[in-house]
Amino acid sequence: MKIAIVGAGMAGIGTLRYYIDHIDNPDMEIYMFDDSNAAGTGYPFGPDDDALLLNQRLKKMTLAPWDDKKEYVKYLKKNNPDLLKHEFITRPEFGEYSKDVFSEYVKDSRVTFVPTVVDDIDVIEKTYIIHADEKYEVDIVHLCIGQLPQTDIYNLKEIDKYIATPFPIERNSEVLLNAKSVGVIGTNLTSLDIIMYLHHNNYKNDILVTSRSGTVPFIRGNEAEVDIDVEALKQNRDITIQTIVDIFKEETKKQGIDFHLLTELNDMPVLDSLTYQLEHLDTLGVVQQIAEAMSEVLREVWNHLSIEDKKYYIKHIKGTHGQLTGPFPKMTAEKIVELIEAGQLTYVSGVKDISYDDEFVINSEDGSYSADVMVSAVGPNLSGENLADENNASPLVKTLIEKGILQVDELGGIKITYPEFSVISKAGVLDTMKLYGNLVSTTHINNSGVNLILKKIPHSIDKIIQ
Ligand SMILES: Cc1cc2nc3c(=O)[nH]c(=O)nc-3n(C[C@H](O)[C@H](O)[C@H](O)COP(=O)(O)OP(=O)(O)OC[C@H]3O[C@@H](n4cnc5c(N)ncnc54)[C@H](O)[C@@H]3O)c2cc1C
Repeated sequence: MKIAIVGAGMAGIGTLRYYIDHIDNPDMEIYMFDDSNAAGTGYPFGPDDDALLLNQRLKKMTLAPWDDKKEYVKYLKKNNPDLLKHEFITRPEFGEYSKDVFSEYVKDSRVTFVPTVVDDIDVIEKTYIIHADEKYEVDIVHLCIGQLPQTDIYNLKEIDKYIATPFPIERNSEVLLNAKSVGVIGTNLTSLDIIMYLHHNNYKNDILVTSRSGTVPFIRGNEAEVDIDVEALKQNRDITIQTIVDIFKEETKKQGIDFHLLTELNDMPVLDSLTYQLEHLDTLGVVQQIAEAMSEVLREVWNHLSIEDKKYYIKHIKGTHGQLTGPFPKMTAEKIVELIEAGQLTYVSGVKDISYDDEFVINSEDGSYSADVMVSAVGPNLSGENLADENNASPLVKTLIEKGILQVDELGGIKITYPEFSVISKAGVLDTMKLYGNLVSTTHINNSGVNLILKKIPHSIDKIIQ
């Protein structure tokens, strides 16, 4: 049994260790491919500035969700007990643990790490040819390649002062910290990272955070318990999006919270919304716990929903649901409030266009603004014809789509079977080629989290072995 694991980030490490710990085969050969700088950490958790925080409480992080949910806490007790005093730690700190786990497992004599990116794969009957530094013939492929590059909405990629990929942010320090002003495209978690990086490094000039919608993720509320029978709901095959929304509304009402609060928060200026949230962290915690429970249900029932329901969810609900299930730490919010109040940070919404004419010109419904340097924080574009096109370039994904090995799903992302995660090629299902992570997030819905991705890997491997 020859296995290729393409990508040595979180999903790749999870796949590797599941084979080593749970598949009893002394003869298997595992080839793992990645750029040597990224191997062991992936995109978000590599060595970088201390301003970049995990968006989950550290006790929720583990690289072995199937064996030991407390593995990371135990690791810290042994290696860096001081960190356990913190609720949120930095992403590079988590990356030290993932790198240690990777280094440990890669020592197994059945594993070969190939420090090269894969640029093509051929499917020949029941085998695969992996094109890297040389060609490798294998029986099983796990594509653990993370997310596509961030999309270049305004076609700015040729401009020197445009930063298309913010991380590692230290690589961009000179341009950012010497800028007369910094513009950021997008208001999601990456935009908060950029603001916190600038603040942490004593940047004193203007920061403009621009977007079409103007919505910012919510602050992580206080921990809360809610009484929802998630297991029973997961088994309900007749569930619809309306049922899920109704349960959400009912639960918030039971807890004395008006469901309309979410729309009201999104309609407020960012400063007012954050100030309100900071004063109501208990309320937020409860709503987030309900949203989390709904997310857990949704992930299980998603592939039984009608296509209309799925489209409705993606268009009307996913955004707010994501604000609740992907929140950011309170201490970040406090800093953002300080920066807005000091007049250093401005949120510009209703953006129509951004162009370049000696400086970046942001054309919005409220008027025109300018910035010296512009950073993209918009995430990848998974939709249809844009997936892996020149503004979302990923050579391997583009090549595999052109060859019909990967296909774009009707909802965006790449088509797979669920819960096996087998690639659905033009020629049919490839039972021994798996794909995990952001590229399949229209089938493995709302999967942005290390635990969420890793939890699904055992079943997908067990299915092959059977
Ligand atoms: C900025 C940011 C912050 C995040 N913060 C958190 C957080 O705090 N907590 C959390 O749980 N989740 C967080 N996430 C979500 C996070 O992306 C996932 O939880 C996790 O990193 C995804 O794992 P992955 O293996 O799919 O991707 P990655 O960990 O990024 O790994 C993909 C790997 O594949 C490699 N690769 C790509 N193409 C090829 C190729 N052709 N050949 C060989 N190798 C290739 C890449 O170099 C990379 O190392 C964050 C995401 C981002 C973008």
